[in-house]
Amino acid sequence: MKPYPRKVYWNEPTMGWWERAYLFEILRGLGITSAVFLRNMWKWVTFRKGALTTYYPEETRWDYAPANRGKHVLTQRPDGRPQCVACNMCATVCPAKVIEIDAGFDPADAAHPKFPIRFEIDYSRCVFCGLCVEACPEDAIRMAKEVPGLPRYDRGQMWIGMEELLTWNPQKDVAKPYPTGGTRAEKRGSH
Ligand code: SF4
Ligand code: SF4
Repeated sequence: MKPYPRKVYWNEPTMGWWERAYLFEILRGLGITSAVFLRNMWKWVTFRKGALTTYYPEETRWDYAPANRGKHVLTQRPDGRPQCVACNMCATVCPAKVIEIDAGFDPADAAHPKFPIRFEIDYSRCVFCGLCVEACPEDAIRMAKEVPGLPRYDRGQMWIGMEELLTWNPQKDVAKPYPTGGTRAEKRGSH
């Protein structure tokens, strides 16, 4: 039986005699690996950061990228109430369906009648896509760049509630200040 021809990829490399001799390329690879290892060790012994493993969660990284999507934060009004109006848009758009919200209603508060009485995120299934942040019409949910203390020993403990989402620091964001007053509806009313 004729052997089935091997698939040839469009970007298949062509090897010269140097690569086909094998030994030279092995030595070249060992040289690159050794150079990287020695460079990182030199940084380590001179107390500078090299390509070193962070022993998470015992160690916390200090150099998260500014755009890193870490832990969620619920922003607050000046009086400490959540900016959230319990519209459920974040829960609806969430691809992992990990946001659960129970809404309360206060007819006496005309500008802000709906509010969350329960707002929970299941971090054991969150994929940190940031869609909830994008969907929010009130700038009520953000993702801070830090990811502190997320690993837990029990999946049940990975449900993070409203109290933690509201009080977890940092509540400051130098790139984009947190809300300082009223809902958009309130701001519109003040103009
Ligand atoms: S980051 Fe993505 S997966 Fe996590 S809660 Fe928000 S929308 Fe859901
Ligand atoms: S966080 Fe934003 S999108 Fe989610 S329920 Fe509250 S106001 Fe709506």
